[in-house]
Amino acid sequence: MSSAQVTIPTPLRNLEIKYTKIFINNEWHNSVSGKKFPVFNPANGEKICEVEEGDKEDINKAVKAAREAFQLGSPWRTMDASVRGKLLYKLADLVERDTLILSTLESIDAGKAFATSYFGDLPGAVKTLRYYAGWTDKNHGRTVPMDGDYFSFTRHEPVGVCGQIIPWNFPLVMFSWKIAPALCNGNTVVIKPAEQTPLTALYMGSLIIEAGFPPGVVNIVPGYGTTAGAAISHHMDIDKVAFTGSTEVGKLIKEAAGKTNLKRVTLELGGKSPIIIFADADLDNALEQAHQGLFYHQGQMCVAGSRLFVEESIYEEFVRKSVERAKKRVLGDTLSPTTQQGPQIDKEQYDRILELIESGKKEGAKLECGGGPWGDKGFYIQPTVFSNVKDDMRIAKEEIFGPVQQIMSFKTIDEVIKRANNTTYGLAAGVFTKDLDKAITVSSALQAGTVWVNCYITMSPQGPFGGFKMSGNGREMGEYGLHAYTEVKTVTMKISKKNS
Ligand code: NAP
Ligand code: MG
Repeated sequence: MSSAQVTIPTPLRNLEIKYTKIFINNEWHNSVSGKKFPVFNPANGEKICEVEEGDKEDINKAVKAAREAFQLGSPWRTMDASVRGKLLYKLADLVERDTLILSTLESIDAGKAFATSYFGDLPGAVKTLRYYAGWTDKNHGRTVPMDGDYFSFTRHEPVGVCGQIIPWNFPLVMFSWKIAPALCNGNTVVIKPAEQTPLTALYMGSLIIEAGFPPGVVNIVPGYGTTAGAAISHHMDIDKVAFTGSTEVGKLIKEAAGKTNLKRVTLELGGKSPIIIFADADLDNALEQAHQGLFYHQGQMCVAGSRLFVEESIYEEFVRKSVERAKKRVLGDTLSPTTQQGPQIDKEQYDRILELIESGKKEGAKLECGGGPWGDKGFYIQPTVFSNVKDDMRIAKEEIFGPVQQIMSFKTIDEVIKRANNTTYGLAAGVFTKDLDKAITVSSALQAGTVWVNCYITMSPQGPFGGFKMSGNGREMGEYGLHAYTEVKTVTMKISKKNS
């Protein structure tokens, strides 16, 4: 996308925040405790509004509504699958209609550069809803060639009430990744957005009513992780939980399932993804992809390519050009059309990133540019590039989730495969080369749920997404993404005589 070819519309600077309550049974509720929590704009630290603070009692109300909507004979359970599809298509149309509102909300709430919300997040959410709208009446069971005189078939049934806990980096995209496959298969949902970014999720409540979903099918409870989130993961009447966020909290989610009702768990966690650049690659392309693959949305991406391995013969040149590129990044007001980089989400993340930058300097990496805060308000950090990074430095091992690029050098293909895999994570990886043999050899050897060759962060709803190792369990998106929301039932019937 080049700004010369597309016009960026004007964001709605004085947008009224209409939806700040808990969404249960297609109605807006105050919190049972009477508590609210503030929501801030990370670009200037100003309070945007207060939102009702959901806790255990609100989760209980939401689960009750979701269970009711899931009862046998309910409007949702008896609805034709194709009609569920129609509702999801309608929801996609409404999100598309309200693109300007939602992308403005996302920018002020999540600190996203407006152009990235408008051209990235919004179409991503719409496509996801449409993709799963199309699957509603296509998740077929099978007939089974059972031994003996039996007729046997499988039914693909919904799992039930699904608890969904999402992070702050892609609030609306994550909302659609979670609800779309769940609703596609006829499940009901209780979803908790991140406390930093509840606003687009709550707006979606209004569109869920408008689209015509029956009450209780989608319930949205804003609140904190240790209260509302933990109430979901420990709930005895939630059948499945889907979580996206840190590996640390992912472990707690699985533990909670084990201690309670063994609810099904899918986890989408962190990463420390390697990008490997061979000397024969198209260097301009590799440079730009590696740059975007790290700095997009201020580095707050689970797939951020935060370990860049560059072949020794081109290392110096690649570092020099990466620094030139990073210095060109435009920081500023998130609602300005020319801004490419906004603030980090909050003080906690900002402090953690700055601390990791300090550790890089202390451990002997070479700071090529950036390395500190930017501007006089908000949580902005300068685009930062480190060279001479060694694999055992903290910046090469820990997920930074910020605009900090680590560039290492390598000599051989075997060496770089070993080093790239030497991590507890396994979410994504990139390989840049014109040599087909190298591309296939390396992409087969890398332990990662997604490997991009000569591109990076190319994602669309058709492609399954998830992690090897401690980057997660299960897959979301694509046909594989349906499995997490499907119970397979085998029905076997005695018959008098089977013919082959
Ligand atoms: P996080 O704590 O894992 O938050 C993700 C979601 O889980 C939020 O909705 C959060 O609620 C909730 N949560 C927190 N503690 C919980 C608990 N004990 N039980 C149930 N739910 C709980 O992530 P974060 O603190 O926002 O970010 C920290 C790190 O997570 C980042 O540095 C990054 O490494 C990683 N992260 C990864 C992704 C990803 O896409 N994979 C996205 C964001 C962050 P709250 O809103 O109260 O936190
Ligand atoms: Mg947190």
